[in-house]
Amino acid sequence: MIPQTFDYSAPQTLQEALALLENGERKILAGGMSLIPLMKLRLAQPAEVVDLGRVPGLNTITESDGIVHIGAMATHHAVETSPIIRAHCPLLAETAGQIGDVQVRNMGTMGGSIAHADPAADYPAALVALEARIHLVSAHSDRTVGAADFFQDAFVTSIEPGEIVLDIEVPVEESNEGSRYEKFPHPASGFAVVGVAARVRKSGDRITMARIAVTGMGTHAFRDHAAEQLLENGASIAEAAAVVGASEQPNADLFASADYRRHLARIHAARALAAAVSRAS
Ligand SMILES: Cc1cc2nc3c(=O)[nH]c(=O)nc-3n(C[C@H](O)[C@H](O)[C@H](O)COP(=O)(O)OP(=O)(O)OC[C@H]3O[C@@H](n4cnc5c(N)ncnc54)[C@H](O)[C@@H]3O)c2cc1C
Repeated sequence: MIPQTFDYSAPQTLQEALALLENGERKILAGGMSLIPLMKLRLAQPAEVVDLGRVPGLNTITESDGIVHIGAMATHHAVETSPIIRAHCPLLAETAGQIGDVQVRNMGTMGGSIAHADPAADYPAALVALEARIHLVSAHSDRTVGAADFFQDAFVTSIEPGEIVLDIEVPVEESNEGSRYEKFPHPASGFAVVGVAARVRKSGDRITMARIAVTGMGTHAFRDHAAEQLLENGASIAEAAAVVGASEQPNADLFASADYRRHLARIHAARALAAAVSRAS
């Protein structure tokens, strides 16, 4: 449980950090909640870690022109308690509040969580449902990627060598929208055995817009377009929830079989949708 010897640097500016990361032997350190255990187990053996903790401005949370910008170094606690996120993206605040425990929420960051891309992480479901965009920069590039394209496989994202997550751009939820994140937490870690994020808009009793995204069930979070379309075409919550994950091959492990995970996804989709509908005005 002792990591391999490594160097440590703590750049004071973004430019300095990006210049260091041009060398592929270096790895970013954010909250250390995932990287340090991996290094102790020697599953990660970087020659040097580049601590982003002293780079100013990476943990700000702002809103402008209908987009909430969340700095990559914003902790889960900051996301959970930010008045801006609570007002404009309540789904995300609710999701952050269900991550791990107090220590993890105080140290872990949104940038670190999404870059790590654990298949059982909570944020991916909310970010995919919210149609968020991930802002990536390197010493030579600056681009944004939609959340649904960012998460590619288990522990695999579209981050290119030398790039960092700079911030996450989340469109504000409309005031008449209702949303909800429901998860079945692993009893030991709190990670999502399955988690479902749902958003709806209504006109009278009719659902005019539905977004349903699932984490923990497959290699990475996915949107269930078939279930969304059923709802938008007048099907009941029960009918739509009953097809969630139908085209996915669920993960299976000692804790939950594939069939059990599919069952959990449908149960939690029904719960998330019912709560989202009751919150929509
Ligand atoms: C006991 C425990 C329980 C947990 N429970 C949950 C849970 O219920 N739900 C959940 O979702 N998560 C859970 N986690 C994971 C937690 O959310 C971590 O915060 C997260 O996985 C990693 O964030 P971090 O800031 O600690 O990143 P680090 O561990 O510092 O880094 C993780 C990876 O991301 C890279 N990285 C970090 N920042 C950036 C960046 N800005 N740009 C590019 N790459 C970057 C690092 O190089 C590294 O590869 C748990 C962790 C622990 C230890």
